[in-house]
Amino acid sequence: MNLKKILVLGLTGAILLTGCSDRREAAQQMLENQKMENRHEATTFAMDTVMTFTVIHEDGDEIIIDAEQEIRRLENLLSVTVENSDVSKLNAAAGNEAIEMHVDTQVLLQKGKELGEKTGNAFDIAISPVVKAWGFTEAEHSVPSQEKLDTLLPLTDPDDILLDSGKAYLQKEGMAVDLGGIAKGYASDKVAELLKEKGVASAIVSLGGNVYGVGTKPDGEKWEVALANPLDANDYCGLISIENQAVVTSGGYQRYFEENGKKYHHIIDPATGYPAESGLLSVTIISDSGTEADVLSTALYVMGLEKALAFWQEHGDFEAIFVTEAGEVIATEGADACFEFEGRDNDFTYRMVERG
Ligand code: ADP
Ligand code: MG
Repeated sequence: MNLKKILVLGLTGAILLTGCSDRREAAQQMLENQKMENRHEATTFAMDTVMTFTVIHEDGDEIIIDAEQEIRRLENLLSVTVENSDVSKLNAAAGNEAIEMHVDTQVLLQKGKELGEKTGNAFDIAISPVVKAWGFTEAEHSVPSQEKLDTLLPLTDPDDILLDSGKAYLQKEGMAVDLGGIAKGYASDKVAELLKEKGVASAIVSLGGNVYGVGTKPDGEKWEVALANPLDANDYCGLISIENQAVVTSGGYQRYFEENGKKYHHIIDPATGYPAESGLLSVTIISDSGTEADVLSTALYVMGLEKALAFWQEHGDFEAIFVTEAGEVIATEGADACFEFEGRDNDFTYRMVERG
């Protein structure tokens, strides 16, 4: 071997050596870029709300279109504002006849009734006549008279929704079903299912604040969801980390109107027919099920802190974070484990509640 050859070998060796770590970095960078390339995002308006999709997958664009189609399909079955939806047909036939329901509508009516019972009727899918009386589904809002509420409240009993062999029947004329407090959660479960079926390991969707995180972020870290500050739309109170979980928030601060200086929001206490005044600003539920999270965020908001914590102690297949009018952020034990409270200058204090 002559000197020249050794030199070249040596040089090549050296180049390969440094090239080796360079290449590792380059490969990593390439992978990152690929992941970014595979990051597909879309925003759409459906079910009366803004929906966003982030899907990390090489076929992300097509998969998002499939997800949107699934949401439209559900909207056309479940929405009270779609003329020929199952729910519209059911409501139009109240007190008159039983109507054939698509299997998704059946499932949701059944779930809605069951969860309503479980929550002591804090959640009520038959609350619609009262919601309408407040004008929350119309352009004009107004405070209904007590007289009017007294005639409507007997029409809101979910036991009067009869489900039998694929058909549904509202027993009393004037009854109506409103799936506004459950349909987006259900849709988020269906979308998550669809994404997983398509082989997506990393995605996050938000259907009007009903968030579902599929898998983890591409780097393996959990998805982070900000807990909104109910008093300031531009602020948040902390970050919730999730993996294959739903996060849903309900609060009176989201939809309301003002009359004579008083605010009236869209979450109705079925016991009174009035917007729930429970001392809470918001309730956030973390659960494997988007459907349950949607229902429970509404129901626990109606219950108020004390009853809601008792409900959590009793059932426990979900976690919750409450923001109270008194300025406290309160997390259940399991929620505390995945929640990073950020007080900053928003004046909230934080505490955790242990499972008894
Ligand atoms: P949003 O739909 O704004 O995210 P929620 O999930 O809390 O809020 O659902 C509130 C909607 O559900 C209302 O707009 C109304 O249509 C309906 N609703 C109001 N009060 C109740 C209740 N106690 N039980 C079931 N549905 C309710
Ligand atoms: Mg809800």
